[in-house]
Parts: sequence; C-alpha cells; structure tokens
Amino acid sequence: MRYISTRDNTIQYSAAQAITQGLARDGGLLTPFYIPKLPGKALEDMRDMAYQQRAVYVMKQFLEEFSVKELTNFVNAAYGPDKFDTPAVAPVHTIDSATHCLELWHGPTCAFKDMALQMLPHLLTASLIKTEEEKTACILVATSGDTGKGALEGFRDVPRTKILVFYPKDGVSEVQELQMITQEGDNVGVAAVYGNFDDAQTGVKRLFSDEELRQELADRGYFFSSANSINWGRVLPQIVYYISAYCDLLRDEKIAPGQPVNICVPTGNFGNILAAYYAREMGLPIDQLICASNSNNVLTDFIREGVYDRNRTFYNTMSPSMDILISSNLERLLYFLTQDTAEVRSYMTQLAETGRYQVSDRVRNKLQKRFKGYFCGDRETQRMIRAMFDRYGYLIDTHTAVAFSALGQYRQATGDGTPAIVASTASPFKFCSSVLEALGDFAPDSGLDALDRLSARTGQPAPAPLASLRSKRVRFTQVVEKENMVDAVMDLLG
Ligand SMILES: *Cc1c(COP(=O)(O)O)cnc(C)c1O
Repeated sequence: MRYISTRDNTIQYSAAQAITQGLARDGGLLTPFYIPKLPGKALEDMRDMAYQQRAVYVMKQFLEEFSVKELTNFVNAAYGPDKFDTPAVAPVHTIDSATHCLELWHGPTCAFKDMALQMLPHLLTASLIKTEEEKTACILVATSGDTGKGALEGFRDVPRTKILVFYPKDGVSEVQELQMITQEGDNVGVAAVYGNFDDAQTGVKRLFSDEELRQELADRGYFFSSANSINWGRVLPQIVYYISAYCDLLRDEKIAPGQPVNICVPTGNFGNILAAYYAREMGLPIDQLICASNSNNVLTDFIREGVYDRNRTFYNTMSPSMDILISSNLERLLYFLTQDTAEVRSYMTQLAETGRYQVSDRVRNKLQKRFKGYFCGDRETQRMIRAMFDRYGYLIDTHTAVAFSALGQYRQATGDGTPAIVASTASPFKFCSSVLEALGDFAPDSGLDALDRLSARTGQPAPAPLASLRSKRVRFTQVVEKENMVDAVMDLLG
C-alpha cells in the first residue's frame, strides 16, 4: 500500500513515512493511493471477534509493513480495560429497531478523539523505527479542548516522544482545563496562552516554521511532529469502529448479512465521517452518509450546492468541537471523488486565496449521490437532548444531539427507513451546563458542581475520569504571552 499527497501523486510514501511526516511538503494530505477491499467473508469472519481483533484485521489492510503481532500489541495497549470502561470499547446502543447509537466516548478522556489518539502513539513510535528516524518526536498541539487532552493521555510516558499542549487561557471549559492541568506523565507539558484559540494555533504554527528553533532542536536530538487530525494515523483507527458496529448488529441479528445501513456523523474537521466513507469503499454496506453540522453549516451548503464558501459569520455554539469553517479532511474526499491531484490543488489554491471554490458538476453529482447534509442551531440541539431523554431515557451530549436532529430531518424529507447508525462523539458529562439547561435545570457556576448535579438529575454516574478530577493535583500553572511560547518548549526539553 502506497500513500500519495492529495496535491501531487508523483511522490509515493510508505505508511510509516506518511505517519511520521504527518503532512506532505506541498501542503497536501497524505492519503492511501487506493482503498483496499475487504475479503469476501470478512464481515462474517469478524462477527464474533472482539473489538481489538477487528481493529487488527481492518488496519492490517492499510499497513503492509506492520506485522499482525505488532498490531496486536498496539490494539491491546490502546483499547485495554485500563483505558476503556467497557470491554466492547465502542458499544452500539439500540434506540429503536431502525436506530442505533455508536458510543465512541468510553475512553480515558470521554470524547471520540481517544479512539484514534490512543492508537496514534503506537503507530508513530513504530514508524520512527521503521523509517530509521533516530531523534525524539516533540509533539506540539494547540487545542480548544478535546484534542489536547486526548493527545496528552495518548502520548503520556510513550518512549521517544514529548508532548506539549497550548490552550487559550480563557477559551476552554473549567472541566476541560482541569483535565489538562492535572495531566500525569513524565514527558508531558501544558501551558496556557494569553489570548484566544487562534493566538495559540498561530503561535504553534510559528514554532513549527522557525528554522533556527528547528536546528536547535535537531542538535539536541528532537524533531517537531503533530498529532492533529490531518495525520493519516488518526483517520485509520476511525475506520474500524464503523465496521465493528456493523458486525455487532449482524451478531445480535438486528440486521441481515448484506443489508445496507445509513451512517450519521456530527462533523467538524470531516475526519470522522471520512472514515465512514472509507469503510464503505472497503465494502461495508453503507447507503447514505448524513453529515450533521451546527450553525457553522459550511458543509451543509457544500453538499447541497457544490460550493464551499468560508466567507461567513463564525458562531460559538454549544457544540464547540464542530465550530469550524475549514474542514481540512474534506481534501481527502475531493481526491477520491476527482482522482485528480491537479484538480484538488486548484480547489485548495482557490480556498486559500478567496475562501471559496466550486466543484465541477461531475464531482457535485458524485458527492450528492453518497452524502446528505443537514444542520441545526442551539435551540434545536437542546430540544433534541430533552426529547431523547424523555422518550428513551437516553442521555446524549450536544454534538450527538446535532446528529440526531440531522437524522430526523433526513428521514422526514425522504421517508427513508434504512437502519441508521448515529456516531455519538462525547459523553454528556463533558458538556454538563448545556445538557442541564436542556433538561430544564439550572447549571451551577463551578464545572465540577455541574457534574454532580447532572448525575443527580439523571441518576447516571459521571464517568470515572471526570469524577476523579476533584482529587487530582494541579501540575501545570504556566501562562505565557503568545510571543513567548518558545519558553514552554525549552522548559519541556529541560
Ligand atoms: C472533534 C469532535 C467532533 C468533530 O469530528 P471531526 O472528525 O472533526 O469531524 C465532533 N464531536 C466531538 C465531541 C468532537 O470532539
């Protein structure tokens, strides 16, 4: 299996090179040259397997230079009982006979980022060895919340890596901040930045492109790397859970072999729904992919009109992980729809220069055949949380609520009764205040009090990693000016 850049197919990369490098030099995303097909009996074979075995089976198709033994060690470490609070890892919760919810938040940080960020460190460290890279990876992350904690937890105490997370001082929730500043591990660092998320992100990009700093790091045996979702090592582990969910439904006789399903995903950077698209290309019987957005509905418009236009108002919503106007991973889909790196490069140049591009009729038709786009605002998000809890006793977070709204809108518009799997991306306890309000309750000022109150209101315990925050020691108190982020790097390297 070879990998290419979405903007230039003349250079080929191995999987290990793609994972080590993260991004292509031309700015494109490293992407498999073709999507391998699952063998004919694969779904039957995997039906009775544990999640970990299914993960080896699926990932092996993309990682020829990794042995089954290696991958087995990785999945056992990444998805073991010390990391996930259920042996199913990504369990399917059935709502009614045609509606199933794929819970992706049973990992150590209670958001779906764990599914990939628990695996990425293993793939990366093995790739360093395979590519004969002798330096230690210094991973820099700018975060608005979920990714930072997920990356810290994934890379803590991983040999030959150090990780440093920057978050905006006043830009994350109290629970999210506590999750990060109490992080354990000997190779981790966390610093707050005076400013907003953009300041943190711009600062990290500046560190990446500082040639003098790069040289100094190299002299000390380090190189910069990234853990954000443009890395192929983050997309690949996400393909597994769609296939696993289908196998669960087969095993439990909720669907028949070969029966098509629809998949509905609350979408921000387009990584999660792209993984579902890849699962379909591998042969999973998926009919429609329903892309759910909040008021930042740039993807809804793109799917409906074939025009991507980021020149619009940015909204801060109660589903903050989807507050995004440039969905990076869409570029990988464009490559698969066009099979033409020059065409993708032209769209991306237009996006960079004007903030807008329009795809050809051929691409738009292909896109619309497979994807449907729906969105909803905050009021509908809260109405959905309330409705799901009152009707089914099922508590969902704000992002998942956007997806259930989109599925409802799609079904109403089309009358399509195909069984649907909804991706549930975060524990409702990560967004206590919005969820409490949705249930008609008030939210206490302190994030930890809100946790207890939601637990009392719903009779459900908060997940252990959140409940235990009260007793955790604060380890990181450094706040830096955005001009001085380099100091935090030097502190970490000692
Ligand atoms: C990151 C995130 C999303 C968006 O996922 P993408 O892969 O970026 O589309 C949705 N919900 C939650 C809770 C997230 O953390």
